[in-house]
Amino acid sequence: MTATTLEQTAVDKAATVEFRGLRREFGPTVALDGLDLTARPGEFLALLGPSGCGKTTALRMLAGFEHPDSGAVLVDGEDVTGVPAHRRDAGMVFQSYSLFPHLDALDNVAFGLRMRKVRTPKRRARAAELLELVGLADKGGRFPHQLSGGQQQRVALARALALRPRVLLLDEPLSALDAKVRLTLREEIRRLQQELGITTLFVTHDQEEALSVADRVAVMRAGRLEQCAEPAELYGRPATAFVAEFVGTMSRIPGTLSGETVEVLGLRLPAEGTLPAGREVDVLVRPEAVHVAADADGDGDGDARVTATAFLGATTRLTVRLADDTEVKADVPAHEASALVAGTAVRVSLPERPVLVAERAA
Ligand code: ATP
Repeated sequence: MTATTLEQTAVDKAATVEFRGLRREFGPTVALDGLDLTARPGEFLALLGPSGCGKTTALRMLAGFEHPDSGAVLVDGEDVTGVPAHRRDAGMVFQSYSLFPHLDALDNVAFGLRMRKVRTPKRRARAAELLELVGLADKGGRFPHQLSGGQQQRVALARALALRPRVLLLDEPLSALDAKVRLTLREEIRRLQQELGITTLFVTHDQEEALSVADRVAVMRAGRLEQCAEPAELYGRPATAFVAEFVGTMSRIPGTLSGETVEVLGLRLPAEGTLPAGREVDVLVRPEAVHVAADADGDGDGDARVTATAFLGATTRLTVRLADDTEVKADVPAHEASALVAGTAVRVSLPERPVLVAERAA
């Protein structure tokens, strides 16, 4: 790829995007329930959340395909809520390839330029540069059905970038692809996004995908923002039990709250998070925070026991059943796992650190 290609596609000034109190109902369904969220200039912001939480609706509002019942969308401080889609300056890539089947890759990329009346030679040259940018310099003459899924999404990406949009909107662009292509393409999208410096909103319901590519991840739930933070913070310091359980693996261990400490597994630990009203709570723990050691004295009655093991490479994930039948996931280094096969009686403990507590699950 030439430096000129990058320069010609890179944004002059990255945009700030703000959603302010967005609300949208579809009949009885509340798709957005007062969504407040800001994407910083040049940021790769992932919108993550379960199906139906409003991610796509939010993205479509930024593109201008959908309008809020109340609230506003601002780009660089300018209210664009009433601006029609074709004036929004947003490039969008959808989950389904959505290329024009009767146009070859080059003409697909050039389509928006044609609509803008860019003259043919210039248009074709620009489209060729964009195909080069996404690694498809030699595929311009292929029609969509002659391209793999990953290649089609690259064309869609090139098409979205052709008009040098101020924001790039990606709606589950990888979910129709197989696992390997998905991984490569997400890294390439990330690299390209960084090189171009374009503010990007990326919708996904895959937490691993969001954590691995985004600068920040906005976790949504039922049309609202639950937490927006950098991946490490989201994982390490989830603000709510919902975020804790949606992002990464979490086990719940019953505990008893008294004041601001919680008694769990025979330990008394400081409790974090919004403390529930009742005394009977669940303590939320990550597998890597759970310590498991073989219990040589275990007599087999009512003890904690390993019930399953799963090899993960450097670590092995154990499923341990506690005396009260609670199941806890624990990661141990692979070399320790040979002594912790299914059936082994174990002792389970937690580090002396504050823990997140939540209302006891029903
Ligand atoms: P998914 O991950 O499944 O795509 P999402 O988080 O993107 O979900 P949205 O597509 O934004 O969710 O939808 C939010 C809610 O609004 C859902 O309950 C959905 O069924 C509803 N909804 C969205 N668009 C429409 C529409 N045009 N008409 C009726 N209901 C709609």
